[in-house]
Amino acid sequence: FAAIAINNSQLLEMSTTDIMTHLKQKHYFFTVVQEKIESLRKTEHLSVLMIDIDFFKSINDKYGHDGGDTVLISVANVLKSCVRNSDVVSRYGGEEFVVALFGMGIDGACRVADRILRKIAETETEYAGDKIKVTVSIGIAECLPKKDDAKSITKRADQAMYISKQKGRNQVNISPENAKQLSD
Ligand code: GH3
Ligand code: MG
Ligand code: MG
Repeated sequence: FAAIAINNSQLLEMSTTDIMTHLKQKHYFFTVVQEKIESLRKTEHLSVLMIDIDFFKSINDKYGHDGGDTVLISVANVLKSCVRNSDVVSRYGGEEFVVALFGMGIDGACRVADRILRKIAETETEYAGDKIKVTVSIGIAECLPKKDDAKSITKRADQAMYISKQKGRNQVNISPENAKQLSD
């Protein structure tokens, strides 16, 4: 008999990871963020970024589903390159991503979001002899102590992302509940 050499940590890794992008799945994101919020001390910060690719449907229309998938993988790789290993980057839906930045307040989260925005816009994904470029819309929320849970902070980041869409895409906006915290 061949040994079935898969251990528990490999199984956990496989069952929480999106096969195509190798990012964490949504349920893993919520579990980890909820645990973190429940253990936060007063001085600790936690921020969430919601990231949605702009006009992604037109990429599928022009290059087909495979072309779209190639862009999704490329965006996923840029996201991972912009955060620390201890942060969680997750595929939230089809072309939506969510990032948990641990120990980071609204100022730090803005810097990370700006870096992501710039790097995505600069990245060229090669497909079928073309160099595909996309932009993203980003929303930021920082955990409000004693108010937020994993669902509510993610919802506020999503609402902020929609503000970015409405204002013309390819930009970052902060949840209104956090905007007044900004120091500069
Ligand atoms: P907006 O700027 O408003 O976000 O426009 P959009 O075109 O990005 O938004 P919309 O939600 O209309 O389109 C998202 C598209 O993403 C539609 C769907 O076919 C595509 N999509 C979802 N999941 C996948 C996937 O796994 N692979 C590919 N190739 N496409 C996907
Ligand atoms: Mg989109
Ligand atoms: Mg979308």
